[in-house]
Amino acid sequence: MLTWLPAHGSANPCESGHSLPDPAMTFLPPNIPVPKELRVAEQDDALVVEWQDGHREVLPYAYLRGACPCAACKGHHRRIDVSSIEPKPGVFLVEHQAQGRYAVRLLWSDAHYTGIYTYAYLRSLCRCAECI
Ligand SMILES: [Zn+2]
Ligand SMILES: [Zn+2]
Repeated sequence: MLTWLPAHGSANPCESGHSLPDPAMTFLPPNIPVPKELRVAEQDDALVVEWQDGHREVLPYAYLRGACPCAACKGHHRRIDVSSIEPKPGVFLVEHQAQGRYAVRLLWSDAHYTGIYTYAYLRSLCRCAECI
């Protein structure tokens, strides 16, 4: 029988805590996609989302702005049908700010900044052949 004996009372009590999961990974279940990078497309009229699973999503501003999920834009609709989003032409993205680890807030050139797009919603907006 093996008996473990602490060498000295001065042994670092924190040594045993190192098997905790990475705190960055504890907030999201693995099935919720997370973007690796959000950047503006070269043509400057779309947001490109590089997802951690390697998927690339290109979101034209007019479409993305039309898909704004805030209460003011959604009106009385309970949920947004992503297949029938009405584009809002003439706007461009001013800034994007991460909201915690699950969403991003988009600031638009028409001074609209209440839209918080969860990453799951952002991913659901992809209209590429693979995602439709
Ligand atoms: Zn909105
Ligand atoms: Zn896609």
